[in-house]
Amino acid sequence: MRVEEILKKGTAALKTAGISSPRVDAEVLLGFVLGCDRLALYREPRREVAAGEAARFEELVARRAAGEPVAYLTGEKEFMGLGFAVTPAVLIPRPETELLVETAVTLLRGAAAPVVADVGTGSGAVAVSLAVLLPAARVFAVDISTAALTVARENACRHRVADRVVFCAGDLLEPFAGNKSFFDLIVANLPYVPSGEVAKLPRPVRREPVLALDGGADGLVLYRRLVSQARPLLKPGGHLLFEIGSGQGAAALGLLPPAWEANVVQDLAERDRLVVARYRG
Ligand code: GLN
Repeated sequence: MRVEEILKKGTAALKTAGISSPRVDAEVLLGFVLGCDRLALYREPRREVAAGEAARFEELVARRAAGEPVAYLTGEKEFMGLGFAVTPAVLIPRPETELLVETAVTLLRGAAAPVVADVGTGSGAVAVSLAVLLPAARVFAVDISTAALTVARENACRHRVADRVVFCAGDLLEPFAGNKSFFDLIVANLPYVPSGEVAKLPRPVRREPVLALDGGADGLVLYRRLVSQARPLLKPGGHLLFEIGSGQGAAALGLLPPAWEANVVQDLAERDRLVVARYRG
């Protein structure tokens, strides 16, 4: 079979299964099997696909149709223009989280040797992107999941920032307890889905670690703890940035006492997405 035929078949199978982006998913999976990018499939639509490759593709399409996320099938997800390894031990980096990284980079651009924490680093996508984009920064990345830290370390090596990213196993900012005025910036994309809504998430999202999604009764349980831990650890004038879900803006601002100057930034879809808080000191 040729590339164009096999893509058509795969797309149809995914569409029948109710997958929302059947063509793109089929292209990513075929590109993965053939070891080429999606554009190459368009350059060579009549390329002959070997029987073994076609069988491998069909197997991946079947798993995708059954609800597995594409990124877990390929082991790979792009974030901030960089390729990251992902496994089912980590949340798949989301495009909307790029806002967190972009805002952090804007705040720290020009800082001499900023010290940054990424709490709940998961795949390390945020920590590693920050280290790549801020060559003078030192980043401390924490996760309670040691399986996630293994993936994050691999990503730091892949992007050659392992010498500036320190990984710590721990609960939120506990590994740094006792330090004072240590960080210039703390970023976090913690679980923020209210417990009662986790079961209603789309099927592929429910394949991701519940540890990375379930944010307790109102979704803000972990951020409540993070805010109180962050205050002594931040330098006066330092920033705390954390991602939230649409509609959580007002409640999230309510977590920050008057020592903080805070506002909510919306994403490209105009949903509440990020809290930017400055510790006045
Ligand atoms: N944005 C994710 C989702 O919609 C949630 C990520 C998180 O809880 N930090 O599934």
